[in-house]
Amino acid sequence: AAKAAGRGTWRAFRPDMDARMQARRQLETDLRCAMAARQFEVFYQPLLQAGSGELAGFEALLRWNHPERGRVPPAEFIPLAGEIGLIRPLGAWVLRKACQDAAQWPVPLKIAVNLSPVQFTRGQLVAEVEEALATSRLAPDRLELEITESLLLRNSDATLEILHRLRALGVQISMDDFGTGYSSLSYLHRFPFDKIKIDQSFIRTLAEGKGSLEIIRAVVGLGRALSMKVLAEGVETPEQLATLRAEGCDEVQGYLFSQPASLQETWRTIALNGSRRARA
Ligand code: C2E
Ligand code: MG
Ligand code: MG
Ligand code: MG
Repeated sequence: AAKAAGRGTWRAFRPDMDARMQARRQLETDLRCAMAARQFEVFYQPLLQAGSGELAGFEALLRWNHPERGRVPPAEFIPLAGEIGLIRPLGAWVLRKACQDAAQWPVPLKIAVNLSPVQFTRGQLVAEVEEALATSRLAPDRLELEITESLLLRNSDATLEILHRLRALGVQISMDDFGTGYSSLSYLHRFPFDKIKIDQSFIRTLAEGKGSLEIIRAVVGLGRALSMKVLAEGVETPEQLATLRAEGCDEVQGYLFSQPASLQETWRTIALNGSRRARA
């Protein structure tokens, strides 16, 4: 009976697999045309001072507006973009676009841009960052580059050299998704990051009392000791915010304040924040 069921399952599964592979191939084809078709868009999510709630800056988050599927999330197309060699041109485009957009804002807010480990190979990254800064005329200290621990896992000497060269341009370097990598702690003394972004999984599980609070407390302590700012990602509730404030996090980011939004909406957020500050 088990054998029959197994065979039945296999037979039922195969056309489904074909369909999925076809869908993937289609997505790949679409992705190759997406840049020329101007289907990519940069969204912005606010970063706030934890204590005052004041707007500190924005993180640039890439979106793909697919003509039929609607908005495809980065988790679905960034790995695929990596496979077809699109990450480098796409990464350079996000960098230029985010710097250009931020340079137009009426308040000198920070702009954080995510970098893929792929951008650290072939040595064009430093020149790309220089060019993005020069053409936008954005002050270098307003640009924060976010990297993940996976970048430092391999090839670390070459990578560290690039990070130092980026730092020499005057930009800030943040460690993103902190705590999810293999040996997070070992990277902190290899490079003087400006900011640690605590991964949202620790904030999500705060109320469960399974050690997340203690980990957040320890990371805030590390940040202080190493002169690195600490930001908490994925803040969704007022209770989480209260805890993060009490623990001394410097900055917060999450749906409690705002989802990532279009450039147009971002302008409204900046205008509102500016007038609120002016009235205070
Ligand atoms: P990330 O850099 O850690 O970005 C934060 C992600 O968390 C974003 O997802 C954001 O929308 C989401 N988020 C923010 N607040 C909350 C919250 O309160 N709750 C929950 N559940 N989620 C929240 P998004 O935009 O889907 O991006 C996912 C990942 O894709 C990013 O994670 C980043 O690793 C990558 N990514 C996005 N844009 C780019 C890019 O331009 N270049 C590269 N290389 N990677 C990018
Ligand atoms: Mg990020
Ligand atoms: Mg993150
Ligand atoms: Mg993340």
